[in-house]
Amino acid sequence: MKTVLIIGGGYGGIRALEVFSRYNEAALKIILIDQHTYHYLQTESYNLLVSNISLEKAFIYLPTLVASFGNNFSFLCEEALRIEGETLVCSQARLHFDYLIIATGSVTKFLQNFYAKSSYVLGVKSLRAALHAKQYFEEELFDRLEGCIKQKTFTIVVIGGGLSGVELAAEMREYCNRYSKENALSCGTIHIKLITRHILKGQKEAVIARVTSRLKTIGVDIIEHRVDRVEERQVVLDNAQTLAFDFAMVTGGIAPSAFLENLSVAKNAKGFLEVDSYLRVQENIFAVGDAAVLYDIDGNPLPPTAQSAEASGTLAATNILASIERRPLRRANIKLRGLAIALGGKNAVVITPFGVVIHGYAGWLIKQAIEKTYKIALKRKAAKGYGMLRSC
Ligand SMILES: Cc1cc2nc3c(=O)[nH]c(=O)nc-3n(C[C@H](O)[C@H](O)[C@H](O)COP(=O)(O)OP(=O)(O)OC[C@H]3O[C@@H](n4cnc5c(N)ncnc54)[C@H](O)[C@@H]3O)c2cc1C
Repeated sequence: MKTVLIIGGGYGGIRALEVFSRYNEAALKIILIDQHTYHYLQTESYNLLVSNISLEKAFIYLPTLVASFGNNFSFLCEEALRIEGETLVCSQARLHFDYLIIATGSVTKFLQNFYAKSSYVLGVKSLRAALHAKQYFEEELFDRLEGCIKQKTFTIVVIGGGLSGVELAAEMREYCNRYSKENALSCGTIHIKLITRHILKGQKEAVIARVTSRLKTIGVDIIEHRVDRVEERQVVLDNAQTLAFDFAMVTGGIAPSAFLENLSVAKNAKGFLEVDSYLRVQENIFAVGDAAVLYDIDGNPLPPTAQSAEASGTLAATNILASIERRPLRRANIKLRGLAIALGGKNAVVITPFGVVIHGYAGWLIKQAIEKTYKIALKRKAAKGYGMLRSC
């Protein structure tokens, strides 16, 4: 029997589990290791932030999900620290492996000259940080119910105009607009400032134009600069201008998870893992998702998305099975099948796999369908696993 370890129960790691679950269970032992007991649905963090969904809808519980895959699957809540030969060293355990998949994702990149990650400078790449941001945001809105006691202006800056920055800024702005309108609030002003030199860099002009127009229409202030540093409650821009804030959300980039720092394998300049065309970093070690540097078939770098994490997770698991059965491995041919961008309220832009752009309410319906299809399938599996664990 071969032992396969998967480090990271995110989009990539879970996809790999699903591939292994279709294989003969007598031949494989699969252990998923994650430092948390949950798969955080990062792609829905914008919904959590403005209370469109409850906390319980923002994650999938990993122990029950893994149990649903069968008796040869187990979950270990541990932090993976390093690899020694064919042993994975975790904080409390040492695990032998025949094959290993590294699916540890990425973390928010806080530049060195960003003022220490304090309670008011947050990323949203962890569920805890997203919750913290949500509470901060809600408290501020709640204060506005207290008549005109709090006649102050409140400024939230969102640093970074990529997919996540755009979604968060749009959703927060829309929520504030709705909240003020429904409750006839007129006390003080809430500013949402999106600081970025480019909105959705790399996307088609038409998409950028539509997204920019929507952001402006709902009242997001777009500050077309780069952030040089973040100091105590103020941002210093690349033109030396300062911008005071009450709360900052950093979405402008990602850094490798700490686990990658301890690995002596090929990495790119940012510290992410270089993989061969079969997604291997070594003969029996594969890397997927944000942790790996992924390319499309023409050699263009792929953006770190849940989509590419899922596709690479599927391929790594497929290649491990091929390797066990001594079949030829499959080369990576990862394609992004479009993109869906939430633009506040019931509005989204969807770029379909054929390049057609659908926007507005229709786009929102499609984005909802994509998110719900993914989540409902996993929630169902986790519910099945709950039943299996209880009957043990
Ligand atoms: C706000 C926001 C919106 C986004 N929207 C979209 C979108 O609409 N579409 C899209 O395709 N992508 C989107 N993304 C990007 C997407 O969420 C990521 O690319 C995706 O989560 C990467 O998946 P992954 O499996 O590589 O890592 P993750 O999903 O981050 O999972 C990594 C897992 O590894 C675990 N881990 C890390 N280190 C260790 C360790 N040492 N030991 C044990 N466990 C460890 C973590 O706990 C985590 O569970 C969005 C991201 C954000 C932040």
